[in-house]
Amino acid sequence: MSDLREIYQDVILDHYRKPRNFAVLEQASHHAKGHNPLCGDRIDVYLSVEDGVLQDVSFQGAGCAISTASASLMTEAVKGKGLDAVQSLFETFHRMVTQPEDDAQGVDLGKLEALAGVRELPVRIKCATLSWHTLQAALEQQDKPASTE
Ligand code: ZN
Repeated sequence: MSDLREIYQDVILDHYRKPRNFAVLEQASHHAKGHNPLCGDRIDVYLSVEDGVLQDVSFQGAGCAISTASASLMTEAVKGKGLDAVQSLFETFHRMVTQPEDDAQGVDLGKLEALAGVRELPVRIKCATLSWHTLQAALEQQDKPASTE
């Protein structure tokens, strides 16, 4: 657990203990389920899309601290954004957690940068990206659950 402790920064702990937008979105226009079999994380992502803008987003689920905090941070980061901006944010975030540090420099991801440490922990990368893959699945209206495998 000692290596994990290093990335359990205040932001991650805060979002794990008090997840933001943790609810079922009654008026959701899009919904998808996600599963990370490697860790056992499960998530439901709900979206309300109107005129190409992500008007509202919420999630529910049960998972480890990284997956829960990442989902919570994601909902804050994407809410109110256009779908193109959401897509580019996903790509930038994905690069941050999968590429060496130097490649990710110069991009401001705000609070999402709290998760940069998972790049040192390959097993945890899927925990951090699960909510984003599920968001994409919801946007694509896939019927089968999103999986990190
Ligand atoms: Zn996990």
